Amino acid sequence: MARDRRHGSATSPSNAIPTRTRTRGSNPSPTRTTPRRRRTETARTGGETMTSHYAMDGKKVSLLGYGAMRMATVDGKHATSWAQGYSASAIDQDLLNRQIKMLLEGGVNYFDTSPAYCRGESESALGKALKASGYDRKDYVLATKLSNFAPRQYPLAACKKMFADSLKFLQTDYIDNYLLHSIGNGKDFSTFSKRYLENGALDWCADLRAQGKIRHLGFSYHGDPKAFEWCLAHHDTYKWDFAQIQMNYVDWRHAKEVNARNLNAEYLYRTLAKLGIPVVIMEPLLGGRLARYNYALAHELTPLDPEATLAKWAFRFCGSFPKVLTVLSGMTRTEHIEENLATFSPLKPCSEKEFAALERAARRMLSLNTIPCNSCNYCMPCPYGLDIVAILQFRNNFLVAQTKPSAKDVLKAYRKAIPEELRRADHCTGCGRCSPHCPQSIDIPREIAAIDEWIDLLEDDVVAKG
Ligand code: SF4
Ligand code: SF4
Repeated sequence: MARDRRHGSATSPSNAIPTRTRTRGSNPSPTRTTPRRRRTETARTGGETMTSHYAMDGKKVSLLGYGAMRMATVDGKHATSWAQGYSASAIDQDLLNRQIKMLLEGGVNYFDTSPAYCRGESESALGKALKASGYDRKDYVLATKLSNFAPRQYPLAACKKMFADSLKFLQTDYIDNYLLHSIGNGKDFSTFSKRYLENGALDWCADLRAQGKIRHLGFSYHGDPKAFEWCLAHHDTYKWDFAQIQMNYVDWRHAKEVNARNLNAEYLYRTLAKLGIPVVIMEPLLGGRLARYNYALAHELTPLDPEATLAKWAFRFCGSFPKVLTVLSGMTRTEHIEENLATFSPLKPCSEKEFAALERAARRMLSLNTIPCNSCNYCMPCPYGLDIVAILQFRNNFLVAQTKPSAKDVLKAYRKAIPEELRRADHCTGCGRCSPHCPQSIDIPREIAAIDEWIDLLEDDVVAKG
């Protein structure tokens, strides 16, 4: 990967941000403060998406990237949702084809997927959509992962099969960016060691790069800090081409407050930047929590720009840092694509005043004590049928609402959000099978038990009031 020398090397949001370039088209459109509206998803975007400071194999990389963790399904839901969409919902391939083409036409050229996304269907759906777009393979950067989470996938033979399947599903004979997936996953460092070291998988990945079957080698990080530190300590050996981290204006300085096991994004970013490792950002919207209405965020941000959406603020934060290769966004709806293309065409870096407002918003949000669930669904399915994500999200929605509804209304909404057949909090056995899969290190049984207790109290309240 070549560093674009036209740009500076500042690593602080407070430093001046150099002017960026656009991937396609010559006439920059004015920065908009409201989402760009289009009638159909086939409408042209103008092709002005800003590129990052980096080029890969001669291609400037778009600052906005597509994360294929969630895809629209034919029943209007999305494919990560085990409990709410698993039975009936196939990925809406026609819609995805149109969306991917729209992104490419808008100048987005970074696509990130994994064998683990969308119940294992993401790679194949993305491969079909990229093929159908008519764009040349050399026009875009394709990233996928060695997602060997289950112990049966630890042996090297299973890792090799996973890679061969990725090539097949993505309809390609090489991967641009290959990642060790969520290196801090599991209870402790022993999981990383079993997944990548003891089985020789990491050395095999380095060989793949030497053979040109993968062009760049990196890792995505969540969880155990030791895995992150190990990778950086071995940078001389493995020469990481990039790293993917969870970064947004809440995790920037407060990830550790949310969970002592986390590392703040500021530390992750600055450490990588110091080593010259380009940063791919995941979870810029904290699993959607920074995009959904939240009075704490709106209170700080809306006065500064009444027309900007909360999502725009979150993207502008992430896109303001010069060592960012791309900012991944899961865009399941065409409106998301339209809005994001508008935000990044071109992206306006945050000013000092705006960074300060975002920090205040982060503090306010943390004071609400929401559960740090990003709706990734890695904890699903629950063997006892609980819709873990819907239950946690229900509690969060209550916490971020400015006006609290009555106990009766909360219970009514709870029953509607989590129908009986999906099993509510009272069915949790505390078996603990979900928690080790959670990249946010949430003690899921504890949170579910607390929600169950809250619901019990509301029920008592309703009974007491007759
Ligand atoms: S602890 Fe509760 S939510 Fe988690 S897997 Fe067990 S029953 Fe399901
Ligand atoms: S509880 Fe954890 S694993 Fe489950 S959806 Fe939320 S963040 Fe993902």
